[in-house]
Amino acid sequence: MKTSFEFFPPQSEKGKDNLQQVIKQISKINPEYFSVTYGAGGTTQESTFETVIDIKNNNKVRVAPHLTCIGASKNITKSILDKYKANGIDKVVALRGDIPSGMQNTGELRYANELVEFIKSEYDDYFHIEVAAYPESHPQATNIGTELSNFAQKVRAGADGAITQYFYNPDAYFRFVDDIEKLGIDIPITPGIMPITNYSNIVRFSNMCDAQIPKWITERLRLYRDDKESLLAFGEDVVLKLCQTLIDNGVDSLHFYTMNRSEPIMNIIKKL
Ligand code: FAD
Repeated sequence: MKTSFEFFPPQSEKGKDNLQQVIKQISKINPEYFSVTYGAGGTTQESTFETVIDIKNNNKVRVAPHLTCIGASKNITKSILDKYKANGIDKVVALRGDIPSGMQNTGELRYANELVEFIKSEYDDYFHIEVAAYPESHPQATNIGTELSNFAQKVRAGADGAITQYFYNPDAYFRFVDDIEKLGIDIPITPGIMPITNYSNIVRFSNMCDAQIPKWITERLRLYRDDKESLLAFGEDVVLKLCQTLIDNGVDSLHFYTMNRSEPIMNIIKKL
């Protein structure tokens, strides 16, 4: 099974030391690649770049920066990609990003399909491009039909693969894959896996990105919210079974949202 792992760029020396340890642990299982998130509107432009280069220089694992286009000019986007190319980075996760509050100007590239098109036009096939997919639909979706055709448009612009938003209902993923296959899309759609380690964090994230947590899960998380040990054991069991169901049904790659922690994920991977 292929695995990839997502990190955010640490903002302190302590955070950097922690990430080094996390990467050391995860590298032991020979991941396909690491990815590093990017703050929409360029808020982590420098720290994403530094983190990517640091990982590349200190590990054998391929590393892919995330890049958002909202609010950015083509010139800035090209200068960032040029720097990555000059440093031997050949894979990116191309995203629109969420419009930061107060931002008036959406920039020259309004949607991820336009960013993918731009990367292709400037760099041909140099970059391997991953895009985002939403099995439970994007929060701004008007209807599922439009969502699916917008996704297809992004793939036809040149995406090589997609990583999904996290989900806890595998049927949402399988339905999404069936639907896009009917549209003639056959790129790999890698499930994004979010470990459950904290009640309020997972509820807050899920509200932000509109990922559904089934009621039977929320009820138990609420019950265990002050009992860390039971919550971790339950969360691990839920995510382990989700991964197992995906694998049993033909999924051959998983992308883990690490939140810069290795333990919850390594525990799951060891048991898979
Ligand atoms: P798009 O694919 O552009 O879609 C956004 C919405 O616009 C959808 O509703 C879509 O249907 C609609 N749409 C798309 N194209 C068109 C069109 N041509 N005309 C009209 N409507 C259209 N955010 C960050 O800020 N930094 C990150 O590092 C980051 N990493 C992520 C990694 C993954 C795996 C995922 C799943 C999400 C990530 N996000 C990140 C969040 C993402 O930026 C937001 O969900 C954002 O709102 C949408 O980005 P997108 O690339 O999916 O947008």
